[in-house]
Amino acid sequence: MSLRPRSPIVRDDDSADSASLSLPRARTLFARALRLRCPACGGGPILLSWFTVAPSCPSCGLHLDRDEPGYWIGSYTINLFLTEGFFALVFGAGVWITWPGVPWTGLAILCGALAILTPILVFPHTKLLYLAIDLTFRPLERSDLVTPHEPGIHESGIKRP
Ligand SMILES: [Zn+2]
Repeated sequence: MSLRPRSPIVRDDDSADSASLSLPRARTLFARALRLRCPACGGGPILLSWFTVAPSCPSCGLHLDRDEPGYWIGSYTINLFLTEGFFALVFGAGVWITWPGVPWTGLAILCGALAILTPILVFPHTKLLYLAIDLTFRPLERSDLVTPHEPGIHESGIKRP
C-alpha cells in the first residue's frame, strides 16, 4: 500500500519508486492561476483570505510557496509591474484623449486612486501567476508535495471565522 498522496499530477508507473511528476501546459497553468485555482491541478480553494495563500493545495498537496523563504518576492515584482503599467496606460490615455485641455487635477486623483487600488485588486492573482511562472520553468519535485494528504477547508468541514 502506497502512503503517497493521491494527486492528479503524480503518475504511477509500474513500480512505486518510479512515479513521475507531470504538469499541464503553461497556458493551462496560467489560466488556472488567473481563476485563483491551484496552477498544478486546478483544485482549491487555495486562498485563506484575499491576502493569504494556503500553505499547500488541498487537492494535490503542492507546497504553494515551494518551501522557500521569501518565495513571494517574485509575485510582488509582478504586482508592481502591473500597477505601474496600468498607471502609465491610464495616465497616457487620459492625456491623449483630453489634449490640449488636460484636467491635471482630476487625472492625478484618478491615477492616485488606481495606484492604491490596483495592487490590492490583483494581489492574489499575482501570487498565483508567479507560482505558474515558477512551475513553468522549474520542474516539479517530489519534495514539493505534502505527505500525507492535507485536507482542504471544504473536505475537513472546518468553517472559516
Ligand atoms: Zn493542486
